[in-house]
Amino acid sequence: MTESQLEVQHFDAVVVGAGFSGLYMLYKLRELGYSVRVYEAAEDVGGTWYHNRYPGARCDIESIYYNYTFSEELLNEWTWSQRFAEQPEILDYINFVANRLDLRRDIQFKTRITAARYNENYHFWEIDTDTGNLLTASYFITALGCLSASNTPNIKGMDCFKGEMYHTGKWPHEEVRFKGKRVGVIGTGSSGIQAIPIIAKEASSLTVFQRTPQYSTPAQNHAYDPEYIRQIRNNYSEIKKAMSESRHGVPSFPREELAIEVSPDVRKQAYEKAWQEGGLFTLLYQFSDLGFGENANETAQDFIRSKIREIVQDPEVADKLMPSFFYGTKRPIIDTNYFETYNRENVTLVDIKNTPIMEITPTGLKTEETEFELDMIVFATGFDAITGPFFKMDIRGKGGVPLKEKWAGGANLKTYLGLATAGFPNMFMITGPQSPSVLSNMIVSIEQHVEWIADFLEYLRKNNHDEFDVAPPAEEAWSEQCREITEMTLLPKTDSWYMGANIEGKPRGFLAFAGGVGLYRQICNDVAAKGYEGFITLPASRAMNL
Ligand code: NAP
Repeated sequence: MTESQLEVQHFDAVVVGAGFSGLYMLYKLRELGYSVRVYEAAEDVGGTWYHNRYPGARCDIESIYYNYTFSEELLNEWTWSQRFAEQPEILDYINFVANRLDLRRDIQFKTRITAARYNENYHFWEIDTDTGNLLTASYFITALGCLSASNTPNIKGMDCFKGEMYHTGKWPHEEVRFKGKRVGVIGTGSSGIQAIPIIAKEASSLTVFQRTPQYSTPAQNHAYDPEYIRQIRNNYSEIKKAMSESRHGVPSFPREELAIEVSPDVRKQAYEKAWQEGGLFTLLYQFSDLGFGENANETAQDFIRSKIREIVQDPEVADKLMPSFFYGTKRPIIDTNYFETYNRENVTLVDIKNTPIMEITPTGLKTEETEFELDMIVFATGFDAITGPFFKMDIRGKGGVPLKEKWAGGANLKTYLGLATAGFPNMFMITGPQSPSVLSNMIVSIEQHVEWIADFLEYLRKNNHDEFDVAPPAEEAWSEQCREITEMTLLPKTDSWYMGANIEGKPRGFLAFAGGVGLYRQICNDVAAKGYEGFITLPASRAMNL
């Protein structure tokens, strides 16, 4: 270790992560005159879009809404090529922003924050990195991404596999070639469903190991017409307003009609129109009771199941692909030729709910019934979502209490607005648990959080306060409100990663705020307008408690 590494560096704010949220937080605080340093484990900016470079990776939010909106210059200087941008184009966009705003000079790459402790005497955070930096920061801001801790199931024998093995969430930078190979994909969530059609076209054979069949509807992706882009640009302030007041951070709203009150013909027409139109929420927005009513939801399920049956030629394969949970209680999936891929001669579907994977062998994979010879295994098995990335660091608050301990047990997961948690003073979470985050267009949620945090820091500075904490009753009330809203929907009725159900041993509990980004923004604004109600703030002038 060099001498300079042993020096303690102090910043007003240390931000963890250089994805969309960390980059905007850096820009915002730097503009306001704070000293800020971002630490990023990867070699470059991008966060989720840096790591998820598997074949077929693309956005499920329309590109024109999936960008920063805080700067008109940025909006006007970037032009998306297609409705659902592919990962390389999104990563290019993030690089464009990082260059344009000269962000890299305040980012330390290839450095992982390993631990952070709140020092109650000095009211700052002491932070350790895996490169030996010793840091202190008045504010510790996590910009971790909700889906950055990849989940690879521990399958017997996996260390002995002689072929290639990848996880979609940690895809290598070098080109992965499928040509002439026997490939197995485990997992049929958004990542698997995007990758499977592409891999199938190249591989000599593709075996899909499916645990839970999924609803997926066509993305209906297409190149953008320049005239359409021009119109969008001209109307962006209205679009931005609509996004910020919406349910999911896109400028559209569910129709008011109820599915259970219209005739089967009217329903079918609505669903058919949505199917042709494509997009993430289009089908879900056809009727306002699809997220709440079991019978209503079943009409959407039936429609998608009938489509799967129409597309998939082999009825036995179609049977295996029939999903049965409430539509929309896992993040909806949009695809390009997913179900069509099962009509290919070189594709086999294996139902691992009925015939579970027993082990990985040196040359393939064994289920209860069959042994499959494979050259490559792709894990599309998702993430330890939302809380997982926090637990990769040893974060300790007042009294040395580990965050992991505070949040142990799903029902104990308590935050205030998903932005902060009691006993962890001066720590902010961008798109943390119990915020709308993963249920929304992430960029809309990120911008709102970053701006709210910056306003709060300005409030503290102007009032000459240097410490905030959450009042425990405020987080009790917020957590209860989150639970009550979730209970009004169908969301908790499904075993999903929203519920922590995909990770063995993870406590069950809904991890986000389900009331929509518009309502959430209003609540956050009200809290600010009432002098940051629910927060306890303390003046910098008080004697240090030494
Ligand atoms: P995911 O939705 O959690 O899907 C993981 C898949 O792996 C599921 O089919 C799951 O089955 C299966 N699986 C997990 N553990 C398994 C095990 N031990 N054995 C066998 N199968 C197992 O993960 P994801 O596809 O990476 O997507 C996660 C989220 O990332 C999405 O919901 C979305 O929010 C985001 N994402 C977005 C896009 C996009 O379009 N922009 C693309 C990719 C990801 P079960 O369903 O039975 O658990």
